[in-house]
Amino acid sequence: MNYSSILEQIQKDIQPYFGKGKVADYIPALANVNPKKFGMSIHTIKGNVFEIGDSKELFSIQSISKVFTLALAMTLEKDSIWKRVGREPSGSKFNSLVQLEHENGIPRNPFINAGAHVITDILTSHFENPKAEILNFVNKLAKSKVSFDEILAQSERETGNRNLAMGYFMKSFGNIHNQVRVVLDVYFNQCSIAMSCLNLSKSLLFLANDGVAPSTGERIISKRNSDRINALMLTCGMYDYVGEFAYSVGLPSKSGVGGGIIAIVPGEMAICVWSPELSDSGNSYIGTKALELFVNYTGKTIF
Ligand code: GLN
Repeated sequence: MNYSSILEQIQKDIQPYFGKGKVADYIPALANVNPKKFGMSIHTIKGNVFEIGDSKELFSIQSISKVFTLALAMTLEKDSIWKRVGREPSGSKFNSLVQLEHENGIPRNPFINAGAHVITDILTSHFENPKAEILNFVNKLAKSKVSFDEILAQSERETGNRNLAMGYFMKSFGNIHNQVRVVLDVYFNQCSIAMSCLNLSKSLLFLANDGVAPSTGERIISKRNSDRINALMLTCGMYDYVGEFAYSVGLPSKSGVGGGIIAIVPGEMAICVWSPELSDSGNSYIGTKALELFVNYTGKTIF
């Protein structure tokens, strides 16, 4: 199947939606991005690549990093992860603190901020240099040299009081084992990683291929863990828009406030779309529309 004409059609169809969402500005360095950007790419497990628009331009992957860190943590620990993080949708904003108090500092899932802090804490316990290990892991998957955006990481370090509050709150329940500032420094760096749509659809293709990177044949994670990450993406990857997204798109997906979304079609492909203007739920407005159009045109949902 040649998806080029479908991507061209999607690029036309999304034009009226520019200006309807809003670029994230709570991290000051994120506000500098051009709101008119749109890129989309597809990597198929058979080795085909399709792309359109700003698909080669680097952007801040933000919460999409939570997929990489969870996959990495699942290679290091098994059931112990799930004593410290749940596997339920939160029904709240990605940076909400409210559930943590009555749920004893155990975040609902690894894809909301608090859950990602716990995963990053696990990596911090295992690795001498967690930042380097995360970059190595992403580099290995992307087969190109990705890096932290130091300006963005610094901007988030200076303004990330809500994330720090979450970290200290969870530490008071004993669910952060390392120093909060150390864990959050790793977290802000992982969020700042700069990648393109093409980098991301290539890197996360193993999730469409039962945990094996198709280009090298290297097993990244077990098939069961690949299935589980997809399940978590479907149920928790789009924050409190997850039900709506399952209805209108129906693909395991993960978004970031940089405007990127990665979507997996198991057994077939990984799709990445980027457009920086966000809806109220913190997901790319146009990215969501583009994925909905893709599924409408191709019928490729998991259902
Ligand atoms: N770095 C962002 C934050 O912690 C990531 C959030 C996101 O992409 N949803 O607020």
